[in-house]
Amino acid sequence: MYGKVWLQEMTWEEVKERIDEVGLAIIPVGSTEQHGRHLPVGTDTFVAIKIAEDVAKETGAVVAPPVWFGWSPHHMCLPGTINVRPEVLVELLYDIGVSLVKHGFKKLIVVNGHRIVNLPWLQMAAFKIKNEVKAKVYIVDPSYIAREAIRELGFGPISHGDEQETSHMLYLKEELVNLKRAKDKVEKLKKFFVVDPGLLGDTVIYIPSSPEEHFQKYRDSGGTGGAPSKATLEKGRELHEKIVGNIVELIKEIKEE
Ligand SMILES: [Zn+2]
Repeated sequence: MYGKVWLQEMTWEEVKERIDEVGLAIIPVGSTEQHGRHLPVGTDTFVAIKIAEDVAKETGAVVAPPVWFGWSPHHMCLPGTINVRPEVLVELLYDIGVSLVKHGFKKLIVVNGHRIVNLPWLQMAAFKIKNEVKAKVYIVDPSYIAREAIRELGFGPISHGDEQETSHMLYLKEELVNLKRAKDKVEKLKKFFVVDPGLLGDTVIYIPSSPEEHFQKYRDSGGTGGAPSKATLEKGRELHEKIVGNIVELIKEIKEE
């Protein structure tokens, strides 16, 4: 187990030591976005931070300061959301990645806490880093890296502030979860709109939505989808351990490449 993992807590000499010894950096990326009445607006970033931290403790990777912002235009319907334009986010992540690579980190792992909405711009930034400074970049996302565990734990289709996210937060930051305020809103699955990576099926990929539509959709539940009332800390712990375990295993594979 490694002691310090956060870049901002290290001196430059400590950073250099870790570059020489391990050469791997993790960048946690989340969002600041409404998550219903029962979860804090920082949920996605808290999730990315803790995954990155626990993976780094086991692997010796250095964790860069988290990116607290994501692409959240649709959630501007409720207070607390801070939306950053994707072109700004691409440039921000590119600059962070290039800085790390110029100091000697050869491989970067981006941990995404903001699900599929963040993926398009993360992919664009990763492509730019790869092609302009020749680093290897891996984007990992809980819903993909622990797809099987999510199915086995029976979380049901992905939504917003749902059972999966709420269970994870109960494990990570129970003091910030107000389960009494959680309201379920389970939608009927549409045949050709399966956004959940855990579900197979023929589907369209993306239908943009507006803050107005989101407000209509989430008006009754106060910003939540799915069934957060079923969330448990124990399921959150199992999920977290699986995500961390899988990323640690991935890193072992990457190291041999
Ligand atoms: Zn979220």
